[in-house]
Amino acid sequence: MGRYTGPVCRQCRREGKKLFLKGARCYMAKCPIEQGTPAPGMHVARRAKKMSEYGSQLRQKQSLRRQYGMGELQFRRFFQEALRREGITGEILLQMLEMRLDSVVYRLGLAPSRRAARQFIRHGHILVNDRKASIPSMIVRVGDIVTVKDNAKSKDAANRSVEAATGAQLPVWMAFDRATLRAEVLAVPTREQIAPIVDEQAIVELYSR
Ligand code: SF4
Repeated sequence: MGRYTGPVCRQCRREGKKLFLKGARCYMAKCPIEQGTPAPGMHVARRAKKMSEYGSQLRQKQSLRRQYGMGELQFRRFFQEALRREGITGEILLQMLEMRLDSVVYRLGLAPSRRAARQFIRHGHILVNDRKASIPSMIVRVGDIVTVKDNAKSKDAANRSVEAATGAQLPVWMAFDRATLRAEVLAVPTREQIAPIVDEQAIVELYSR
């Protein structure tokens, strides 16, 4: 299944929770979730009442996958890689997702949403260790330096976004200099720092069936 290209808020309505896919709008009263807009489709109430354990695990997985804007195949590949690594699979999966370059750019405030961050990266505005990094799914490593390309267009766009994000909490596992738009990855984020919107263990159980 490819990347979802339909209405963005529909994905939050489907999951019944805020996935923060639209930048500033997600913090406004006009967010459909804030307004209590029901899930899309017919027979919503009946579906909700009959949720099985499998259904619940599936919704957790879909929420996380949609939050990070990934297709099913790519998400499953991330899970397989998390499974291969030593440690708690669910936590490693969260860390891998959070350390994707598009997520890092979004968390730094260089783009208003992960979707916008992906576009910003694909257009060549982001450098990692002084080299152009145009693959949004690239996973950054501790010690990596993330910067914005040194030209007016790139810097203007990043500065506008950073200004709009002033007040947003920067991740403590990264150091960010707003003046130079230079960030350094200091550590792998802990589960608490990521504050996931789902129970990742349910996803591990779903894929272990
Ligand atoms: Fe739309 Fe953002 Fe609200 Fe989700 S959280 S429904 S993307 S405004």
